[in-house]
Amino acid sequence: MDNPIVLEENLDLEFIDKVYSIPGGEKIKDCLQCGSCSGSCPTAPFMDYSPRRLFAMIRAGMKKEVLESTTIWLCSSCYTCYVRCPQEIQITDIMYALKQIAIEEGVSSKGSSAQEMVKIFASLVDKYGRNHEPQLMTRFLLKTNPLGLLDNAMIGLSLLRHKRMPTFPRKIKNIAQLKKIIKKAEEMEGY
Ligand code: SF4
Ligand code: SF4
Repeated sequence: MDNPIVLEENLDLEFIDKVYSIPGGEKIKDCLQCGSCSGSCPTAPFMDYSPRRLFAMIRAGMKKEVLESTTIWLCSSCYTCYVRCPQEIQITDIMYALKQIAIEEGVSSKGSSAQEMVKIFASLVDKYGRNHEPQLMTRFLLKTNPLGLLDNAMIGLSLLRHKRMPTFPRKIKNIAQLKKIIKKAEEMEGY
């Protein structure tokens, strides 16, 4: 993608502070712009801005462009960038926090429906303690591409027939315990 042009009056200095206040976020100041993260990121070719560029944009206060980017939603949390970053910046965790800020502020990604997938996945885990693939894909396609349901129906039926997917969702044992853990994590993160 071309370099976005942003007028100075549209830069958001509060956003910079907000990202720096994420645990580990202040380390973004130490980013050398070396590009090791982008070079090792398996999903960077599909992102509109590479992780290196995204961090430069955060430091420039480009809130809108950062929160609307596909980058934060296409991060697959593989942690490769974190392992290779010479400055030990917690890139993956910062991507998680940016997703959270985007959801809180009602900002949708332009060009990626990954945010919808994440929301549906989270609601299933909240309900059952685990994913249920048939519901995930059905709800996701209904929301983003209803015609895609027809294309994927045969694949889904074949997977069900060969017992590669569970027909009905099953709750994990002691889901109350999981809910307590999630609640505690949310409190610790200040969500
Ligand atoms: S690897 Fe680390 S220092 Fe290098 S560009 Fe990425 S975040 Fe910055
Ligand atoms: S954690 Fe995310 S940003 Fe980092 S290398 Fe993996 S996919 Fe790319």
